[in-house]
Amino acid sequence: MTVLTNLLDLDPAQLIAYCGELGEKPFRAKQLQRWIHQFGASNFEEMTDLAKSLREKLSGRAYIAAPAVVSDHTSLDGTRKWLLDVGQGNAIETVFIPEENRGTLCISTQAGCAVNCRFCSTGKQGFNRNLSVGEIIGQLWMAEFELRKSKGIEPGHKGERQITNVVMMGMGEPLLNFEPTVTALRLMLDDNAYGLSRRRVTLSTSGVVPMIDKLSQECPVALAVSLHASNDALRDSLIPLNKKHPLQELMAACKRYLDYAPRDFVTFEYCMLDGVNDGDHHAKELIQLVKNVPCKFNLIPFNPFPESGLRRSVNPRIKAFAQVLMDAGIVTTIRKTRGDDIDAACGQLAGEVQDRTRVQERMQKMDEYKKKFGENFGKIVEVSS
Ligand code: SAH
Ligand code: SF4
Repeated sequence: MTVLTNLLDLDPAQLIAYCGELGEKPFRAKQLQRWIHQFGASNFEEMTDLAKSLREKLSGRAYIAAPAVVSDHTSLDGTRKWLLDVGQGNAIETVFIPEENRGTLCISTQAGCAVNCRFCSTGKQGFNRNLSVGEIIGQLWMAEFELRKSKGIEPGHKGERQITNVVMMGMGEPLLNFEPTVTALRLMLDDNAYGLSRRRVTLSTSGVVPMIDKLSQECPVALAVSLHASNDALRDSLIPLNKKHPLQELMAACKRYLDYAPRDFVTFEYCMLDGVNDGDHHAKELIQLVKNVPCKFNLIPFNPFPESGLRRSVNPRIKAFAQVLMDAGIVTTIRKTRGDDIDAACGQLAGEVQDRTRVQERMQKMDEYKKKFGENFGKIVEVSS
């Protein structure tokens, strides 16, 4: 029995090897790769410049499919969020954020997350499983060509690129799913796939120190580090992983990474939690902490969820905190919350997914989706604006 291969699972070198097994030259793999990742083709028949014999061979042993879309919502501010089914009651989310000069896609790398940060609803649902390469790159593939479709460009045709930037800031800790994440990154950067520059692809991590070093060697892209605290005691209480890789180690890893990074700074993300980490004394402590690491700060207003027991800092506090950092010469931005009306803001990406111990409930939810969407389950079915 032939095992069917999802071609979205293969990076450029693997696709060349795969075509080689079928007796095809490397340039055929490049053509095939362009059909898939530049034109969004999922049907071998439409790949008209490939020999009929090759198309037939491929039809018998390969397919091209991203995770099925369960829902698709567009927010009033244009933010578009897809919920994707990755099987066994697990769903992940992908969010597109349009801005004047760019379109950013926020993608997930795991279903759930084992790091269990106190302020994160993904963490609260526990770890379900790692996503495969096809499931990670499939989010970009699906989103790019759905966005083109919304502009009247059908899959299989040339069209203007919609997604100019990718951030790995959805569900999951990318550095704890290292190999598939790096393979997906390679496809994002490849000229015969998405051709994004390293500066336009950002990986966000809670601070898995050894893997930051590994990334610098294997595929350095722009790096964002979720800092959220100015000292170890506070960070231990917010991000349990800090006990394993404390702040001084993390700062040293950031500094080492910059020797290989496509940008000359690290972005520190800092989630503003009322009365927890948002005092002027925290900002001053941060200035000392990062003094040897060229960096920018991105302050994220906390997106509350009921079980967290935490509150968002008030806006004047966030501004005052930013001012302390800026007065010390650190470039600081405050993240606009987007997509609030569709639960697409940071840390709410688990919106419709329940605690992993409540598998039964999740399965029921998927059944509900199936009933609700009937034969449309897995297709684009709902767009609200
Ligand atoms: N696991 C990685 C990437 C995914 S989380 C990481 O932690 O960096 C992406 C960003 O969203 C992180 O900076 C994370 O700290 C932040 N975040 C998580 N929950 C949040 C919440 N409820 N409100 C605001 N930001 C949140
Ligand atoms: Fe995981 Fe990141 Fe959420 Fe922490 S903030 S639980 S690392 S997804």
